[in-house]
Amino acid sequence: MSTTLSKPAASDSVTRYTIQAIDQMKSMDSGRDPDLLRAILKPKCEITLEVPLRRDDGKFVSFQGYRVQHNDARGPYKGGLRFHPAVDIHEARILAHLMSLKTAVVNIPFGGSKGGIAVDPKQLTLRELERLTRTFTSMLGDNIGPLVDIPAPDVNTNAQIMAWIVDEYAKKHGHSYGVVTGKPLELGGSLGRDEATGRGVMIAVREAAAEKKMNLKGARVLFQGFGNVSSFGARLIEQELGAKVVGVSSSQGAIYNKNGFDLSGAEAYYRKNKGLKGFAGVEWMTNDELLVQECDVLIPGALENAITMSNAGKIKASIVVEAANDCTEAEADAVLKERGIFVIPDILANAGGVVVSYFEWVQNFSSHYWEIARVRSELERTMVAAYNQVSSTAKERQLSMRMGAYTVAIERIVRAMALRGM
Ligand code: NAD
Repeated sequence: MSTTLSKPAASDSVTRYTIQAIDQMKSMDSGRDPDLLRAILKPKCEITLEVPLRRDDGKFVSFQGYRVQHNDARGPYKGGLRFHPAVDIHEARILAHLMSLKTAVVNIPFGGSKGGIAVDPKQLTLRELERLTRTFTSMLGDNIGPLVDIPAPDVNTNAQIMAWIVDEYAKKHGHSYGVVTGKPLELGGSLGRDEATGRGVMIAVREAAAEKKMNLKGARVLFQGFGNVSSFGARLIEQELGAKVVGVSSSQGAIYNKNGFDLSGAEAYYRKNKGLKGFAGVEWMTNDELLVQECDVLIPGALENAITMSNAGKIKASIVVEAANDCTEAEADAVLKERGIFVIPDILANAGGVVVSYFEWVQNFSSHYWEIARVRSELERTMVAAYNQVSSTAKERQLSMRMGAYTVAIERIVRAMALRGM
């Protein structure tokens, strides 16, 4: 991921949604052990480390590092590593929980984890960043590994950092590409990982529109963000679904034109100018204004907590597809539901990335690498199967898609816990 993402404030919406889903399951007497259902709320393991660094000028400093391992009933823990000054145990806990649900809803054999270091990597030289990453990896020791816990890039971490982890891990454990995903292609990365989350979002939009009988040809799609997820998502939605993108944004502000605009021109402009202000043929506005513009599909694809009580009542879209994690506050979600807006939740909509991370891990074990067409078709199959499962659960039990997704995920995790005798 790029370094432009401002610090997300993790909310407790994920826990609240989980409690809501558990209460619903209990009231329907799903036959699940209530103690196991409650056990899902707590992480299995939390690691806090003081990670030392000798700066290039000889000074000694240290930073707090974290790894929260939420649940591994269905397979090794899986989740990103963030390097950001405001990383803390609370945020890691919430996002690890979200990862357990996400891997379960798309039915890949992983649990959930998250972590990182409370550091601003922009204040470090490249060599300092490498030393810090290597020390953190070494301190995590046997707590990570291809069959234990598999980190991946997240805010301010990237394929280079994953490559250093592979190398450091190999010193004590022997060569093993499967210890992380999101690696460079030369070191066991997978084709199609860069576009995977955006492609998954495009599939979620297509399936949601089909379910709601919305014709996507010429439909207006509005994105918050224009980074990895949103730029791939926007391009694929135009190219493969025939819809038109009417708005995108960066941290400085947003562009909007109800009739659409030249998307590849905007991408080139954004790359060149590191922002969108001044792009021709569009209105310039704030991110808050963008979210409430006229559109058919709204895709928050930048930050946590984008949809709040201050904008939920004004959103014009009839479908919201959550590309960003934890982007709708629980109270605002209730408003969207009341207004009849069809919401595809983050744990389903943005799961394309972790699905292709799973394919990367599978390829690492077999040392046999797939063509891009195979990656895309397996992603398509996995996402459509997950969408259909969530949709049919939601219909059968008269739930929202969010509660349908949480129910599918929690039932899978709890079934695995019960079978294993946890
Ligand atoms: P990114 O860093 O590539 O892009 C983030 C975008 O958000 C940038 O265009 C940035 O300018 C914009 N932005 C930053 N602050 C903003 C603000 N205040 N208002 C509006 N826009 C702002 O990140 P990404 O990889 O595209 O991830 C976006 C979201 O998707 C995050 O919530 C992330 O957790 C989630 N996600 C990403 C992946 C993945 O594979 N990259 C997978 C699952 C979920």
